[in-house]
Amino acid sequence: MTNRDKFGYQPIPLCDGHIHITFAHPVDTTVKILDDTMTWYDCERIAILGLQQDSKNTADPGNNLKALYCKSRLNETYPDRRVYAFSGIYHYYDERDTAEGYLAQAKALWGMGFDGVKILDGKPKMRKNLGRRLDDPIFDPFYAYLQEHDIPVTMHLGDPPEFWDINKISEYALKVGWYCDETYPTLEELRREVLSILEKFPRLRLTMAHFFFLSQDLEACSDLFEHYPTLCFDLTPGGEMFENFSKRPEDWRAFFCRYADRISLGTDTYNYALHDTLADYGNGADLARTNLVRKYLEWTESCAHPWYGTLIPFGLDDDTLTKIYRGNFLRRLGPARPVNCGAAAYAALNILNAFDHGALCCEDDERTALEYENLQVIKAYFENKE
Ligand SMILES: [Zn+2]
Repeated sequence: MTNRDKFGYQPIPLCDGHIHITFAHPVDTTVKILDDTMTWYDCERIAILGLQQDSKNTADPGNNLKALYCKSRLNETYPDRRVYAFSGIYHYYDERDTAEGYLAQAKALWGMGFDGVKILDGKPKMRKNLGRRLDDPIFDPFYAYLQEHDIPVTMHLGDPPEFWDINKISEYALKVGWYCDETYPTLEELRREVLSILEKFPRLRLTMAHFFFLSQDLEACSDLFEHYPTLCFDLTPGGEMFENFSKRPEDWRAFFCRYADRISLGTDTYNYALHDTLADYGNGADLARTNLVRKYLEWTESCAHPWYGTLIPFGLDDDTLTKIYRGNFLRRLGPARPVNCGAAAYAALNILNAFDHGALCCEDDERTALEYENLQVIKAYFENKE
């Protein structure tokens, strides 16, 4: 029994391009969770998106290497499944951030065997911390390198438009500090910064996560796809997108059929500690994201959603579903890249050294001990594999 059997979905294997592993577990537990998650959801491929790192926030300094470790472990276990790893980038947030430094990062992560880059700087709070535009010339050599080597980029840009409106933002979003007052760039300004990157690098293989938070404006989405031929969107909720699609279901359905090559599956599934038995997997509320996406694309009957009102699903044909569920992922990423084990072991050693010298610690002693141990496991594994 898998999620597909439980809900009667189409027998199309999934490639989920938007997975995170930020929960605090021993790294081998995370490998097990991903293994079970892939089985439960019929995922033949997943891409783990690593965390952005900086010299101040040290929640999980080894997160990118952890993604590389999970990829390598699972790919040696299962010849018929593939795991991919995208690396976040590193900022100092001071004058040590340079164009040469960002370019060096692009070269290093590509050389280490990552399959792509995750950029989170477009999240409003992070963009504010960054203190410079996303299309600042400091990033030009970095993006030039990504374009030259056809390296896929997944970028988070913006948030739902309500987050800029104190009267419309949800209580939860307000509480966790996502309200964007006048000290933040507007959503339109943020979008212009991304489009300016694409003007400079028109062949950059850029996927905007969460449908670019643009599901309220179908005409704008069509214009973007027509103007920027390499631009793609992922369907990672932002569940508000399904509420918006349901306001013009026929128009959006036609849009999905027309641009099926530009839209791909993503879910924001994490390394949740779930259940020991697969049969219990579907019972967790935390698993709602994959099913929200699948039901909306596949089902034909309207259904009530507790947050998003009446949803009117698309009932897409198998051809369109196959492109969205797997074809676009396979075309964009190709085969999973081999990991440079020596480089990965050395990178783990460097982070361990930073811990040893007191230059790094996590939010509390317990997390520090856990992540230190995880990096030792990762370093030993890559040393042995070399
Ligand atoms: Zn995400």
